[in-house]
Amino acid sequence: MAFIADALGRIKPSPTIAVTSKAAELRAAGKDVIGLGAGEPDFDTIDYVKDAGIQAILQGKTKYTPADGLPEVKDAISRKFRRENGLDYGRENISVNCGGKHTIYNAFVATLNEGDEVIIPAPYWVSYPDMTLLAGGTPVIVEAGIENGFKMSAAQLEAAITPSTKWVVINSPSNPTGAAYSYDEMKKLTDVLLNYPHVWIFADDIYEHIVYDGFQFYTPAAVEPKLKDRTLTMNGVAKAYAMTGWRIGYAGGPEELISAMRKVQSQSTSNPCSISQIATIAALDGDQGYLQVRAEAFKKRRDLVVEMINNVPGLECPTPEGAFYVYPSCAGLIGKVTPDGKTLESDLDVSTYLLESVGVAVVHGEAFGLSPHFRISYATSDDILVEACTRIKTACEALK
Ligand code: GLU
Repeated sequence: MAFIADALGRIKPSPTIAVTSKAAELRAAGKDVIGLGAGEPDFDTIDYVKDAGIQAILQGKTKYTPADGLPEVKDAISRKFRRENGLDYGRENISVNCGGKHTIYNAFVATLNEGDEVIIPAPYWVSYPDMTLLAGGTPVIVEAGIENGFKMSAAQLEAAITPSTKWVVINSPSNPTGAAYSYDEMKKLTDVLLNYPHVWIFADDIYEHIVYDGFQFYTPAAVEPKLKDRTLTMNGVAKAYAMTGWRIGYAGGPEELISAMRKVQSQSTSNPCSISQIATIAALDGDQGYLQVRAEAFKKRRDLVVEMINNVPGLECPTPEGAFYVYPSCAGLIGKVTPDGKTLESDLDVSTYLLESVGVAVVHGEAFGLSPHFRISYATSDDILVEACTRIKTACEALK
């Protein structure tokens, strides 16, 4: 009898984490590697949020809290949902978790039975299908390619729904493409969902604050309030407030779902870090002005990377509406031969070649369910981005 659970055989280690660790390892070994793998803002957590964490420690707020969060952090989240999304969620509708990943995991474990389907548009963030599988569900992948602006159409959504569909995941702006649904595009999806009352909506809004060119962000439950009683509106402080290491994700949703998630959490992690919860209150209630300033910095980097990558022979890079990723197609490189005589047969070959030949770490598209592409995270300085894109160009020009 195998010791490791069968479910583990169905999943793989997170490829985004793997590429980030690999780049760090190579750098530690003295290699000149530029990491564009990690989806993590290079900005620091702002000082008054750090201070709130320090004060929490000094004031002894270092004990257990309720499993799914302190009432006062839920109140700050409730204010955020009302202020920014026009959504009313009381304490009983809010779950606070150990990072956004934990929110997704709790929701899936709390709801999925064998055979339940989760519709996931591809390219998708690497962990949705594997978390679905771990929880016993079945991912149903809907391909939303470059020709559709990486967005799932209403017709595609409708065609994917079956009597076994439990959730549809909507991640806008998206990881790994940065594509975001406008109000009209979102409305077309929510109109379809109105006709299927058994389908729940998992709205991953983690990149809400990182949008460009005046793009207006909308979350599904705000676009169609009739769906609010079957939507989990998920968010977190990691990306917007540069608080990845603090590990706070949260969600608003119907009480029955929130208490089921609490049950899972009470038997697994218990509360998210008490200090991080206090810092989250400071982040959500504090001045929000700097988020726009940071988004402007990201926009400049997006423009720089899109322009430089589109100048590389064999690559095609659309301009995304948000997040800090681009997802160029490398279809034009497939079949080419490296100076060492190796034929590039897949996006994994392309990303391996970029790492080995010019020391640039990117994440291959197969990890996100749509090939041949790769993901660049441009959450790093302009100088590093220029150097990285120049190296990518050199590597691609050396192909035969
Ligand atoms: N969400 C980030 C990324 O896609 C962090 C890594 C992870 O947890 O997958 O790179």
